[in-house]
Amino acid sequence: MITLQHVSKTFPARRRSPAVTALDDVGLRVERGQVMGVVGPSGSGKSTLARIVNLLERPSAGTVTVDGVELTTLGAAELDRARRGIGMIFQQFNLLDSRTVLANVELPLELAGVGRRERRTRAAELLERVGLGDKLDAHPAQLSGGQRQRVGIARALAPRPKVLLCDEATSALDPVSTASVLALLRTLTEELDLTTLLITHEMDVVKRACDHVTLLESGRVVDSGALGDVVRRPGSPLATRLLPPPA
Ligand code: ATP
Ligand code: MG
Repeated sequence: MITLQHVSKTFPARRRSPAVTALDDVGLRVERGQVMGVVGPSGSGKSTLARIVNLLERPSAGTVTVDGVELTTLGAAELDRARRGIGMIFQQFNLLDSRTVLANVELPLELAGVGRRERRTRAAELLERVGLGDKLDAHPAQLSGGQRQRVGIARALAPRPKVLLCDEATSALDPVSTASVLALLRTLTEELDLTTLLITHEMDVVKRACDHVTLLESGRVVDSGALGDVVRRPGSPLATRLLPPPA
């Protein structure tokens, strides 16, 4: 479970740029087994929000609690441990081209000191699960975008996280790969009882993959709830701004 309470983030002014309030008193709650979509225009604070959930970015105010642990109070060593419970996938996959697919998925386990045999077994199982059981020895450059993102998902899941953060995970993909990656994220969330945060600027992605949605605008939550409720809510900013008017 992810809980954010009164989270604000201000980036201080630099020589030529004024201070920016990227998040302003954000509250968010995502339960296990849920896929929460966070949708909003460019610059609304979505990526900042994702980075704050695993404390890659420290909030200027407020608290971040993941699976009952308040991350904002932890020291460096404890935070490192807590972060292993949080997987992240990115728009640009961030795979190492010099490594095979299997070795990419093994990497976080290597860093965590997991023994070679267990690493191999776990990575191979995950790759099987994401439909890449026949690509263990391939290199990322030999894969399609959708396949690369599946490797990214397997790598994120290797340390057995409870929480999965996806920042524009399908934005670089064609529609067919997008659909299959979104379906995979949904299935994995259910089967592994994950808490999944899916960040996107596309309402269509939310409609396909999410059961809950939060709308961000200029760093503020302007609506949040079960997808169906938010979409049906009369005058909802989400409905009026992101859904086309009925023909
Ligand atoms: P996009 O859809 O384009 O990815 P986003 O919703 O993810 O946008 P963020 O990247 O969270 O938006 O940025 C929110 C605001 O915070 C923007 O105004 C951005 O310029 C600013 N910002 C983000 N990171 C930093 C930083 N490290 N230093 C200064 N300002 C930043
Ligand atoms: Mg972003």
